[in-house]
Formats: sequence, C-alpha cells, structure tokens
Amino acid sequence: MTEIIFATHNKHKIEEAYSKLQGKFKIISLEELNFFEEIEETELTIEGNAKLKADYIYRKFHKNCFADDTGLEVEALDGAPGVFSSRYAGVNATYNDNVVKLLGALKNEKNRNARFRTAIHLILNGQHYCFNGIVNGKIIEIVKGTMGFGYDPIFVPEGYTETFAELPMEVKNRISHRGKALDKLSEFLMQPM
Ligand code: IMP
Repeated sequence: MTEIIFATHNKHKIEEAYSKLQGKFKIISLEELNFFEEIEETELTIEGNAKLKADYIYRKFHKNCFADDTGLEVEALDGAPGVFSSRYAGVNATYNDNVVKLLGALKNEKNRNARFRTAIHLILNGQHYCFNGIVNGKIIEIVKGTMGFGYDPIFVPEGYTETFAELPMEVKNRISHRGKALDKLSEFLMQPM
C-alpha cells in the first residue's frame, strides 16, 4: 500500500485522516518517524504554512507527504484570528486561552458569523498540490461540549444546533473544513496516476 506522511503532531487530525484515507493509503505519523520537533509556522497565509510544513518534512524524509493548516475567520473581527488562530492569545497560549480571548473580543457583538478554513499541501512524487475546505458557522457565547480541540466548544456549524465539541466525531469529520479538504485529497489520490 502507498505510504504517505501526514506532517502533524495533532492526534485529532491524525484520527480524522485515518478515518478518511485508511484502507486506501498507509498514513505515517511524525511520531512513527520519531520526529518530535515543532515546525515554526512563519508564513502569513494558511496555504503558505501548509506548504512550509510539507516542504520541511519532504526535505527531511524524501517521502510523499502532506501537511495542513487551519484558520478560524470571524466576520466581525475582519477575519481574525485567521492564520494566527493557534497563537491568538500569545505564543504559548492553550486552546482555552484562545477561546477565552475570542469570547472577550466578541462580547456584546451581534454578528457571530465565522468559518474554519483549511489548506492541505501535498507533495507527491515531487509535485505540489493544494486542497481547501471551508465550514461556515457561528461562535456561541459560552463553551459547550468536551470533544474535539481548539475552538470546537464555541463553534456551531451551519445547519446544526450543537458545537463541534458536542457532535460525534463522524459528523464533524463529514462536514468540517479539514474533512472537506481531506475528501478532496482522497479523491485526488484515488485517481489512476
Ligand atoms: P493548525 O495550525 O492547523 O493546527 O490550526 C491552528 C489553530 O486553529 C489550532 O491551534 C486550533 O486552535 C484551531 N483549529 C484547527 N483545526 C480546528 C478544528 O478542527 N476545530 C477547532 N479548532 C481548530
């Protein structure tokens, strides 16, 4: 089976990728390669950061690989935190620090529209490809649910009343930003080469 490295340390993301690509491709995690370094995300777009991470891993292992980057874009904040989503409340911010800061920034704000946007950068046989996924939704006023990670407990996707942290994983995987980008990646990889 074709092997492909997923350049992430995030266990939730690895699980999501396994559920989409398992059986078709052998996903190798960075942990399995004993690679524990954090790759610094220095670009100003999610596409740039996804490419930066994939390039780094490709240079190191010379194997087919992909990397993703996601931003939460809040309409009332002109698209912030966006590419800075993981560092919104500071360089060493926890998921909860970021959530608290965002709820504060949206205090008394009526427009709660937001979207997650993911870019996946694939390097396959030395060629570069990019896939995107978007999910629209709203930021609620309190934290709800215990599953998932990041901003999941305050994000309610369009068409649902539960947050991503309350919805079963298979539902989130089906409708989420990363789920959609992974579907495009999977579809592309399944094409006869
Ligand atoms: P990353 O660089 O792709 O890991 O994403 C940046 C930040 O966006 C993460 O630190 C999380 O706070 C947030 N994020 C990414 N994906 C998700 C998700 O599926 N749910 C909630 N938050 C997410």
